Amino acid sequence: MKKTTPRWASYDLICMIKYHLKQSPIHLVKKHVKGHQDDHKKFKDLDEWSQANVLADQLAKAKLRLGNTVDTDCILAGQNWMLRCNRKLITGDVECLLRNNLHEEPMRKRWCMQFGIPENEVSAVDWDTFKRVYKANPEWKKGWFAKHNARIRPVKYNLARRKHDDDLPCPCCRALETTDHTFICDDAKIEEAFIANIADLESHLRATNSKAISDSILETCKSIRYNREHTLDDDWDEELASTVSNQILLGQQAFIGGLWPKKWLNLQSEYFSRTRSRKNHRRFGWQRQSSTRKHYFIKCGRSKTQHYTKTKTVR
Ligand SMILES: [Zn+2]
Repeated sequence: MKKTTPRWASYDLICMIKYHLKQSPIHLVKKHVKGHQDDHKKFKDLDEWSQANVLADQLAKAKLRLGNTVDTDCILAGQNWMLRCNRKLITGDVECLLRNNLHEEPMRKRWCMQFGIPENEVSAVDWDTFKRVYKANPEWKKGWFAKHNARIRPVKYNLARRKHDDDLPCPCCRALETTDHTFICDDAKIEEAFIANIADLESHLRATNSKAISDSILETCKSIRYNREHTLDDDWDEELASTVSNQILLGQQAFIGGLWPKKWLNLQSEYFSRTRSRKNHRRFGWQRQSSTRKHYFIKCGRSKTQHYTKTKTVR
């Protein structure tokens, strides 16, 4: 086995495993099992070692998603020296992790302020998925979202503030064109773009989730777009209906920005463990898809409409 170094992710765990292997009177034979083989092969076609690896991976992820905290003061046999920052263990790329840990809390506060999330809601928000979805985007999309979330995109309201334009109303409906307005504008062309993109999102959700979860997410999109309460039936799953209400309450900015209640992920995990679905590795897909779709229909809808009405605004 290679010499472990602190630059390895999970090097602390590997050190402990090596320690226990040395201490054990049992002679163990090593066998390399390639990870994530279920990405390319059906579970039933894998050998027992690979199946065990997939199952262990799924169990570990399910446990992680519960968001339980571990008692980090407890010292285990064979435990290596540890570096902590803001009570978090630093292993792997030390410089990068230190930077992340130092800046994470101030950034979180800033996002909460930008998204208007009250303090008592902060712990209920799924920050982990928010970060992963953001990181998974290509650079151009990261830039787009950062500008969109900071409300500095070139909508009429901002153009007028910067004195690039003196005409404030939306070119489609003549209401004040703020960033929020681009998502709720009731112009026919924008509605058309919304319907087309929601149909795309629907087919993605249907293929990756239960009908109840898919319908709840689609209803959330519609409630936010039409600025209304959800219209789910009275006998709708209580947990899902309350998650939809929570999401609507967090507002359009958090929804489009990808800051969603943790409950979505828990509900999806429950669905996956119930169905023993192999779609588990796509768990962030729908959050990414839904924010991407929304991005497209805002962008396409708006530029198509502007092109249609021949009112180019950026000088
Ligand atoms: Zn409008």
